[in-house]
Formats: sequence, structure tokens, C-alpha cells
Amino acid sequence: MSRMEDNQDPLEQARLDKETEVEIFKAVRSADDDNPVMPVKLKSSDMFCFSCHKGVSCWNECCHGADITLTPMDIVRLSKHLDIKPREFLAEYTVPDKWDRADLPVAKLKMTGADGKGACNFMTEEGCSVYENRPATCRYYPLGLASIKPKGSDQQDDFFFLVKESHCKGHDEDKLQSVTQYHDEQGLADYETGNRGWVDILMKMASWQSIGGPGGKEIPAQTKQMFFLVSTDVDGFRQFVLESKFLDTYEIDPEAVEIIKTDDIALLQLGFDWMKNVMFNDQTISMKQNVLQQATAKARENMGAT
Ligand code: SF4
Ligand code: SF4
Repeated sequence: MSRMEDNQDPLEQARLDKETEVEIFKAVRSADDDNPVMPVKLKSSDMFCFSCHKGVSCWNECCHGADITLTPMDIVRLSKHLDIKPREFLAEYTVPDKWDRADLPVAKLKMTGADGKGACNFMTEEGCSVYENRPATCRYYPLGLASIKPKGSDQQDDFFFLVKESHCKGHDEDKLQSVTQYHDEQGLADYETGNRGWVDILMKMASWQSIGGPGGKEIPAQTKQMFFLVSTDVDGFRQFVLESKFLDTYEIDPEAVEIIKTDDIALLQLGFDWMKNVMFNDQTISMKQNVLQQATAKARENMGAT
């Protein structure tokens, strides 16, 4: 919980009063806006009929002109799959974009064609060529993932809903499964662990949007750039942590430093904890005492204190 929430800041109260529901993902791969989504909250035990296989008449249709925001874990897994660095992956396979509801930069999967409405670069006649490491959005489909935070609550509630697009004939198949079965079969647990901090930040920023940013203040462009680096380039962020003054500034357990040298999920967690501290003043990471004292002295000096 942030300090502002503890003190019932009026701006925070205004945000809470306005807050209703914030949707994080709509796992709708098609760019066709005419297709309605059925935002009916599903329980994990709810059953639905769906199957996607080469025999469906719409095979590969949804892999054209797909609107896919890449999560941090997507980029980690796809770069490894292709045996290239995340920054090479970014340059080759993504387009920079903005997640409007949070006013934060994201990377989207690039589609072929001058208008970006062509096939996905990974689509083949046989199906997805990166299937084992396909993005989370492709895994969730036809489930949409939403995250809501009821008025005045600190607890967010993630839930699924069914996305029924008219072109998708997978819904006519008779394979019956529960939401949990489908979720497990799609191997989503690792993605959700690695992406947790990223989702938290998008959600929190979206909830502040109506008043222009956390506490009514806009996030500086440099902080947004750092958020993008943490979200999209684990190698670049690792280099920053290990080679800048980061470790001289923050209290990071030496064992944790060793772990983040090779563990991308731990590095992402550190990165988003740091971002939560920078963006929202959340106590997710601590500055070293001497740095804190210097910063306090400097702030006093700036305020003209003796
Ligand atoms: S990554 Fe695979 S499943 Fe996702 S849009 Fe591209 S081809 Fe389709
Ligand atoms: S059944 Fe749905 S998910 Fe599968 S290829 Fe067809 S449109 Fe895509």
C-alpha cells in the first residue's frame, strides 16, 4: 500500500470514488472491432465448448492483423526460442505502441503487410511456428482476462470471460472443458508469475488516468522509458542493474544479486518492484541508508533549511 493510501489523500479518494472496473487485457486477437465480446465473468469451474485445430474452417484466420500487446514474459520466451537478444527481437518483430488506458509504452507484435493487417510473422500453413513459446494473448484466446478493483478496495480480482468472435468456429466444436482445464493446458501459470508486476503497474496507472497520473502528477518521460526497458529487454535492464549505480543505491541482498544474473523472472520482479517504488512510492524496494541520508540532506538544502 502506498503512503498516500494510508493518509487518505484527497486525490487518492477522488480516484477511488471514480474507480469502477479496470480491464487489463482483452485477449481478442482479431482487429475487427465489429465483433462483440461477451464480458460475462466466468468462474474457474465454468465449462465452455472450444477447440482449435487444423480442421476448423477458420484455421489461421485469427493470426492475421492480430492486435497483440507483448508481455515481458512473451519477449523473454520468444527471444530465447529464436535464439536472439531481446533487443534484436524488438527491432525485428515488434512495433512500439502505447497502452492508452495507462499511458505507458508497450511493444506490439508486428504483423506483415504495409498496413499491418497481414499474417503474423510466425504463422505457417501448419500453424504457429513458435507454438511452445507463443505470446500469452494467443494462449488465453478465446478467454479474455480482466482485472477489476472494486470501489475503495485494495484487492484486485482477476477473472476470465469468453471472447466470442463470429469468425472463430472453434466455439462450434464439442470439446467441453472448464476454465481451469483450459488455463492449465495453455501453460499460463509461468507467464502470470513473470508478468505480475507489469500487470500491477498497468492496472494502477489505468486507475490514476482520470486525474492525470499518480497523485495527479504525470509520470516523467524518462521513467516511462525505463518502464519500457524493464518490460521489453531483460539483458539491457540486467546490464543497467549490474553496471550502473543501482546496487550502490538500493538494498539488494547479495544472494538476490547472484540470482538475477541468470534468472529472468527474478530480474523482472526486481525491475517492477523498483518501478512501483519510483512511480507510486510503494515500499517495494529500499534505498541504502547513506543514500537516503544524502537525499534528505539535499532536499533540505533545496528547501533552504539550515
Ligand atoms: S504468435 Fe502464433 S498463435 Fe500468435 S498470432 Fe502469431 S502465429 Fe498466431
Ligand atoms: S478456431 Fe478460432 S482460434 Fe482457432 S484458428 Fe479459428 S479463429 Fe483462430
